[in-house]
Amino acid sequence: MSEETCRGREHVEAAPTFRSPFQRDRDRIVHSSAFRRLEYKTQVFVNHEGDMFRTRLTHTLEVAQIARTVARALNLNEDLTETIALAHDLGHAPFGHAGQTALNKCMQKFGGFEHNRQSLRIVQYLEDRYLAFRGLNLLFESREGILKHCNADQARSLGALGHRFIARHQPSLEAQLANIADEIAYNHHDIDDGMRANLLHIRLMLDSPLFARFHKSTVQKWPQAPSKQLLHSVIRAMMNYFITDLIQSTQARLAQIVPRHPDEIRSLEEPLVDFSPQVRAEHLQLKRILRTQLYHHDRVLENADRAQIVVEELFNNFFFDPNFIEPADTSDLDPSSGCRAQLVADYVAGMTDRFALSEHKRIFRTDKHANSA
Ligand code: MG
Repeated sequence: MSEETCRGREHVEAAPTFRSPFQRDRDRIVHSSAFRRLEYKTQVFVNHEGDMFRTRLTHTLEVAQIARTVARALNLNEDLTETIALAHDLGHAPFGHAGQTALNKCMQKFGGFEHNRQSLRIVQYLEDRYLAFRGLNLLFESREGILKHCNADQARSLGALGHRFIARHQPSLEAQLANIADEIAYNHHDIDDGMRANLLHIRLMLDSPLFARFHKSTVQKWPQAPSKQLLHSVIRAMMNYFITDLIQSTQARLAQIVPRHPDEIRSLEEPLVDFSPQVRAEHLQLKRILRTQLYHHDRVLENADRAQIVVEELFNNFFFDPNFIEPADTSDLDPSSGCRAQLVADYVAGMTDRFALSEHKRIFRTDKHANSA
C-alpha cells in the first residue's frame, strides 16, 4: 500500500510535513485515550491478578512487533500494518471476552456489541479531540484493517468499508497481516502466562506434538537448561517457526499473483498472508489446546462469570438511571447516537477493569466482586 494507491480520509486534511499519512494514523492511535486505557484491560488474566501477566496493551505491542517484522520482510507498508495492529483491540470491553459477552447480551435489542466494531466506532466517533471532525479521521486503509468481522446488515450500513463483507472479499495485505500477527502473539504469550498462573503445565503442553518437538530439540541442545529459560526458548523457537513459515508461504503466493494494485488483493476471496496448510493445521491445534486447557479452565471461567455480572449490572444501572454517569466522564461519548443503550454501551465498554470494579462498588456499595472478578 502506498500514498498513491491510498483512498484517503473522510475529511480532507493538509499532508503532514515530516511524516507520511500512514505514520500520522499510527501516531493518532498512540495518542488516543482508548489506547492508554488498554493498560488496565484484561487480556486473559484480570489486571489485578498480577503484574507479570500480559495486559491488553502489552498484547497489542507484541502484535505490533510481529506485524512490523513480517511487513518489512514482505515489503509491505510497515506504518499501516503497525497502525492496524495498535488499533485492533481498542474496542475491548473491561474483562476481555467476558465483558464483550455481557455487553452483547445487554445490547441484543439494539444491534449487539462486538469489540471489533467498537474499535472502529472509537476511531470514527468516540475519540473527540479535534476541532474539525469527530473521531480520528483515519485513512480508509486504517479503518478497513480495524474491522475484521461484520454481519450483512451492519456491512450495508458501513458503505465502502462494509462492501467486502457482502462481496466476501479480502482487506489489504497489511490488514491480513495484522490479523494473523494477533493470533501468533496470543497463541504464544498465553502459553507463557498460562504456565505462570499454574493453569497450564509442561506435561499437558507436551501432548501437543508441535510443543513436544521444539521442547525435545531445545533439551537436546541445552540438557541442563533451567525450566524458566527452557520454556522461553521453546516458545521463542515456535514463534520463529510460525513467523518464518508465514513469510515464506506469503512470499510464494505473492510471487504467483504479482499484484500491481491493492484492489487486486481486495478482489480475492482467500487471504494471501497466511501459513502453509501444514503449519496452519499446527497453529489451529495450538489454539484448540489453549481453548480447552486455558480459556475454559475453571478458574478462568469462574472469573469470567463474575466479570459478566459486574458488566451487566453496570449496564443495566446506567441504562435505567443515566444520572449515575458522572458528567465529566461523558466527554468521549457520542451525543448524536440518539440511543441511550448505545451511549451506555460506549461508556461501559470504555471502562478499564479497575474503573468498572470501582464504579460497581460505588453504585452497589459492595466489593463482592472486587477480589475475584
Ligand atoms: Mg488481539
